[in-house]
Amino acid sequence: MVSLAGGLPAAELYPIAEIQAAAQRALAKHGTAALEYGPVEGLPALRALIAQRISTETGGLFSSANVMLTTGAMQGLDLIGKVLLDEGDTIVAQSPTYLGALDAWRPRMPVYKKLDWTAPDTDALRTCKFAYAVPNYSNPTGVLVGQVCRSALLNDVLESGTWLVEDDPYRSLQFEGDPGPTILERYVAEHPGPYNGPIIYLGTVSKTLVPGLRVGWIVAESNIIQALALAKMSTDLSSSMFTQAVAFELLEAGFDKVHAQTIAPVYRERRDALCHEAALRLSPWFEWEIPVGGMFVWMRAKGNAINTDELYQFALDENVAFVPSSVFDFSGEDCFGMRLNFTRNSPALLREGIERLERAIRKYVSR
Ligand code: PMP
Repeated sequence: MVSLAGGLPAAELYPIAEIQAAAQRALAKHGTAALEYGPVEGLPALRALIAQRISTETGGLFSSANVMLTTGAMQGLDLIGKVLLDEGDTIVAQSPTYLGALDAWRPRMPVYKKLDWTAPDTDALRTCKFAYAVPNYSNPTGVLVGQVCRSALLNDVLESGTWLVEDDPYRSLQFEGDPGPTILERYVAEHPGPYNGPIIYLGTVSKTLVPGLRVGWIVAESNIIQALALAKMSTDLSSSMFTQAVAFELLEAGFDKVHAQTIAPVYRERRDALCHEAALRLSPWFEWEIPVGGMFVWMRAKGNAINTDELYQFALDENVAFVPSSVFDFSGEDCFGMRLNFTRNSPALLREGIERLERAIRKYVSR
């Protein structure tokens, strides 16, 4: 099976030696404290480091009170749902949307309204509980949202008095150009002083280092952090102090930034391999834009001629997997697209996967 379905980094690039050394340093420094339960908000030194980094990156004033560490950004999404959502509340979100977010909030049975970046629906924003966006190389589309759209959304969020969840795991995986300021940074530029804004920003080491550390963070105004900490208490008492201590060693040395620069060119090469092979083999049936960062290519069936829910079984029969668009669509109706991951497999395997996909499509269309 060639899986183009997952959202996983290239395992052969995992920095095992650096993580091993960081683990040794962490144990030497913290001793048994690294192996205990810890404060629910996270390892104090790592909270302070994230606060300092965000302050430097955005030019704002963030303190530890604005930061909570989580078991991956995924837990941040879950806790936001627990704290902010009541049954039937409205969320304004990009469509398609990250499946993990849809899953996290499903128990509250929210109503979704589509976030239209070119003309945000101000009425929807006024009545929603929060807006959710992944502006940098989104999952599943790989799209980089432009600065004009970010600014329009920020203005509307501020006017409507709602929250904005800015989920940002892919920012460092840039292949061409720079994504520019986050929405958080745009807010901070206009609102100097201690952070007290409506943006709840999520970060993680999963895409730049390894997902297995399960270290993520929420940056938000301090009241929200306190509410999220209360919710986290009953979820897991605290995230792993050990992996937070390991992450601290790596982040303090700036290793995540160095490593992102190592992996981005490899991912770019893989993106090119997949897109080039797809151009040769899949373009009669699908169209796509080449992403300038992240992990995914989002393909749309030309003329909605291929139902990707149906194609999926044909693909499995050819030993290749993708994710059909319907799972990312809150209405469940979009079944004419697919997400292909290009980071996990070598260029040769990606080419093989596309070849298999072509065979699956040919069988599907002549069924
Ligand atoms: N948000 C988005 C948009 C993601 O793509 C992912 C990972 N698939 C996450 C959050 C969760 O990341 P983590 O591994 O930090 O839980």
